[in-house]
Amino acid sequence: MQNISPQKFFLYARKSTDVEDKQVRSIEDQITELRAYAKTEGLNIVEEFIEKQSAKIPGRPIFSEMTKRIEQGDANGILAWHPDRLARNSVDGGLLIFLLDSGKLAGLKFPTFWCENTSQGKFMLNIAFGQSKYYVDSLAENTKRGLRQKVRRGEYPSLAPIGYLNDSRTKTVVVNKKCASLIRKAFELYAQNNSRLEDISNFLAQSGVYSKNGKRLHRDRISFILSNPFYYGHFRYADEIHEGKHQPVVSKKIFDKVQEVLKQRGKPKTKGKVEKPFVGLLHCDECGRMITAEIQKGHTYYRCTKKNIVCSQPYVREEELDRQLSSLLQKFSLRPNWAAGLREMLEKDKVDAAQFSTTFVQESREKILAIIMKLQRLLDGYLEQDIERETYRFEKSKLLSEKKSLEDQSTRLEQKLTGWLEPMTEWIKEAESLPKIAQGSNLFEKKVAAEKLFGSSLVLVNREARLRAPSGEDSSGQNQWAALCAAHELALKKPSSFILVRRGGFEPP
Ligand SMILES: [Zn+2]
Repeated sequence: MQNISPQKFFLYARKSTDVEDKQVRSIEDQITELRAYAKTEGLNIVEEFIEKQSAKIPGRPIFSEMTKRIEQGDANGILAWHPDRLARNSVDGGLLIFLLDSGKLAGLKFPTFWCENTSQGKFMLNIAFGQSKYYVDSLAENTKRGLRQKVRRGEYPSLAPIGYLNDSRTKTVVVNKKCASLIRKAFELYAQNNSRLEDISNFLAQSGVYSKNGKRLHRDRISFILSNPFYYGHFRYADEIHEGKHQPVVSKKIFDKVQEVLKQRGKPKTKGKVEKPFVGLLHCDECGRMITAEIQKGHTYYRCTKKNIVCSQPYVREEELDRQLSSLLQKFSLRPNWAAGLREMLEKDKVDAAQFSTTFVQESREKILAIIMKLQRLLDGYLEQDIERETYRFEKSKLLSEKKSLEDQSTRLEQKLTGWLEPMTEWIKEAESLPKIAQGSNLFEKKVAAEKLFGSSLVLVNREARLRAPSGEDSSGQNQWAALCAAHELALKKPSSFILVRRGGFEPP
C-alpha cells in the first residue's frame, strides 16, 4: 500500500468561501492533517499549494501551476484531503485522469479516499470527481427547484410583505397580528373612497407603521401594498400569480373594491381637486362629456368640458349644484320608522337565507370545479407548447382570480349563511344617514354618497342636476335605491312601511 520514495508529492489544500465548501475543513486544518498523514505514510512532500477558489469552473491559477509543474516532472504525486479539493468540474478532473494515464502522475493520495494509478483506482477517482460535479450541479439545481417547489406548495419564497413575518423556524410566512390588522384597516379605509394614498400613509404612520428606514411610507409604496394580491391569499412570483398557503389579511371582495378605487383615483387629476368636490360626478346631458369646474372670483362654477365639440350648456354655481344634489340625496333617504320595519324583517329572513345559500354554495362549488379543470387543461396546453407563455400567464391569473372570488363568496355564505344580510343592514344604515349628509356641509361626502347611489347616471342639463332617464325596458338599473325612491312617492298615497319589499321578500333575486 505504501508508495515510498522516489515518488515526490505536491500537497494541495483548497477551500473557497462558496456555499458548496461550507462543510469543508479550513485550509489550516487540511494542511495540518495532510502533513501528519504524509509523515505516517512516509510521503515525500516537495511543495505545498494553497488555493482559495472554488473548483466549480476550470481556471484556478494555483491548480494550473501545479499541474504544469507535474507535466514538467517536478513531482509525480498529489496529496489532498479529498478528490473534491482537486476538481469539481469535468475539465480539471479529466486533466488529472489524463496525467495518470500518461504516467506523469504515479498516484494521488487522500486521507479520506484511496486511489492508485490502476484502472480500478482511476475508475474510483472518476466517480469521486463525478460525484463532486454532481454535487455542484445539484446544488444550483436544488436551490432553484427548492424555490419552485415552495411556490408550488403555495409558500412564498421571498421576503414577507409588510403585515407578515418570515418565520425562520418553520420557513413560512406568518401574520404579524398587530401590523396586519392595521393593514386591513388601511384597505377598508381606502375602499370607502374618501381617502387619498397620502391619508393612508398618514394613518399608518400614526399607528406606528413605517418603512424599514423609519420613514413614513411613500404614496407609491401604499399603492403597491393596496394592489398586492398577497393580502387576499395569492402571491406574485416570477410574473405569475400563485395560490398561497398563508393566511389572508383582507377578503377578495374588499381587495377588488380597493382596486376599483385605485383605478378610479389613478386617473390623471386636474389641479385643485379639493376645491372642486363635484368634478367627475356628472356628465353633460347634451353632449355626454364630463362636467368639470373652474374658480372665478372666489366662486366655483361647474360646466361641460366641451372637449372637441360644440355644446350650448351653461355654467352652474357650486352652491346651486350643492342644493340640487342635496335634495336628490334627500329623496333616497330612509325614514327612521321604515328602517325599523326593515330591520325586523331582516331578522325573519335570516331563516330563509339559510336555504338560499345552501343552493348557492353548491352552485359555486360546481363552478370552482369547472375552473380547476380549465386550469389543468391550460397547464397541459402550456406544457405541450400549444400555448404561449404570455397567454398562459394571463389566462391563469384570470382563472385564479375568478376561482378566488367564488371561493370567497361561498365561504362567506357557508360561514354566515347570511351573506346578503350584511350589505342589506349596511345599506339601511347608509340610507338612514343620507338626510344628515344631505343637510350637512361636507361636499365631498355628498359626492361619495351620490356616486354610490347614482353611479354614472347623474347628468347636468340647463343648470339642473338630474338622473338620466332609464333607456328602454331595461330594468337592471332598478336597485334598492330606485325602489326606495319609488316608495317615497307611493308613501304619499299609502302609509305602509313595507312598500319597497318585493312579493318574495327582499333577498337578492
Ligand atoms: Zn356638453
